[in-house]
Amino acid sequence: MRGLVFTGVEKMEIRQFPDPKPGAGQVVVDIKCTSLCGSDLHNLHNPNLNHEIIMGHEGAGIVSEVGVGVTLVKPGDRVALYHVVSCGKCKYCMAGYAQFCTEDRRALAGIEHGTDADKIIVKEANCLPLPDDISFAVGAFIGCFAGTSFSAMKKLQPSGMNTVAVFGLGPVGLCGVQYAHAAGARVIGIDGIPERLELAKKLGADEVIDFKNENTAETLKKLTGGRGPDLVYESSGSMVAQKDAINVCAVQGKICMVGFNGPMSAKADSAPMLYGLIGKELTLYGSSIMPRQYHYEIIDFIRAKKIDLEKMITHRFPFEKIEEAMRLFDTGKTGKVVIDL
Ligand SMILES: [Zn+2]
Ligand SMILES: [Zn+2]
Repeated sequence: MRGLVFTGVEKMEIRQFPDPKPGAGQVVVDIKCTSLCGSDLHNLHNPNLNHEIIMGHEGAGIVSEVGVGVTLVKPGDRVALYHVVSCGKCKYCMAGYAQFCTEDRRALAGIEHGTDADKIIVKEANCLPLPDDISFAVGAFIGCFAGTSFSAMKKLQPSGMNTVAVFGLGPVGLCGVQYAHAAGARVIGIDGIPERLELAKKLGADEVIDFKNENTAETLKKLTGGRGPDLVYESSGSMVAQKDAINVCAVQGKICMVGFNGPMSAKADSAPMLYGLIGKELTLYGSSIMPRQYHYEIIDFIRAKKIDLEKMITHRFPFEKIEEAMRLFDTGKTGKVVIDL
């Protein structure tokens, strides 16, 4: 089978690998769609990456083989892949929060082979059942960024009575725009890339702010009668945006921080954050990936609200052209880029 590996900084190639054989409790999935994610770009630029591992962690496909003891899926089942592989028995795994596993947490394309391949081998717990009316592309999305975004937006609970500011209009931000719009909220999107601002408008943003040409905080206040948005969804991971978020959020507002821009995010000077938090009685949430059970809630929500997550796709490529796709995605000017197999 074919699999994509990164062979050095900004270098990649498609290599041949032996077809995987499932062990006890394992499942082989024939990948039908794999989509490109911001963390693929972190890997592409990482000098310390393992060059033997197949990349990709947003995938969906059809189960082709199961190992001994597998009961949750069978050959022929359509599945989306949940990209956090965990122990399955610690306190957090028992509660459905694999992302907080304390015993043995791995990510696809980290220690395990990923989804940029014809086939993948995973634990049965990583297979999320995919109904026939949900496409493989949307399945791939739910397993990663569309789930991450849903979990963050659920903490904010937007409604028709709110204005939501969405900082950062990459895939996690654009998905947030669609969810908040579907929930009835007024949505203001903020980014510095014109293509992303355009896409945000198409997906339901009522207003957009180009932070390269406008003062974000001033414009947000102007658009909200001087009070600021009452809900803020921060997906850029930029320290400037994080500070802006706290500065502009309305009194007694809620902020959810979901953007993580590598290790730099952790070095923020916390003093202005704390004064903003205390003085305005803000509720500040962090959000990390999603618990597995949200898969069902997301499918119910996007069906009920007729949210078409495929509208975020701006480019589709066959697997042979995955390098061209990755380089285009790396420009930051695309929406979601997906690879069909
Ligand atoms: Zn992802
Ligand atoms: Zn665990």
